[in-house]
Amino acid sequence: MNQLCNPLIGEIEESQSERTGRAQAALIAGRFQVTRISPQRWSVKNGDKLPYAVSLEDGMWTCTCMDFRQRGPQIRCKHIEGVRLSEEADYQPFQTNQKTCYKKSIGQKQIEP
Ligand SMILES: [Zn+2]
Repeated sequence: MNQLCNPLIGEIEESQSERTGRAQAALIAGRFQVTRISPQRWSVKNGDKLPYAVSLEDGMWTCTCMDFRQRGPQIRCKHIEGVRLSEEADYQPFQTNQKTCYKKSIGQKQIEP
């Protein structure tokens, strides 16, 4: 039984990293257009193709594309990965700026009095 299960887990991991890689490449190349519709809904447009709707409900990602219908939810399609990657990229500089401002204001308070 275990011998049958292990290659299957490896295959899922491989399929997942392949999609994550494709999403990353598409974002870098500017082929993915990720638009936030509501706090937990996004529209992902890939080049000239029709946009797909990606949503997050109770920690579960869903997408309207054929790949997700066939392989989801075990495997997150490249659209979901595109949203996840672009959200992370949006949040990181924001958090870094806030920390920098906070440190600066503390520094000034120590010097001034
Ligand atoms: Zn998709």
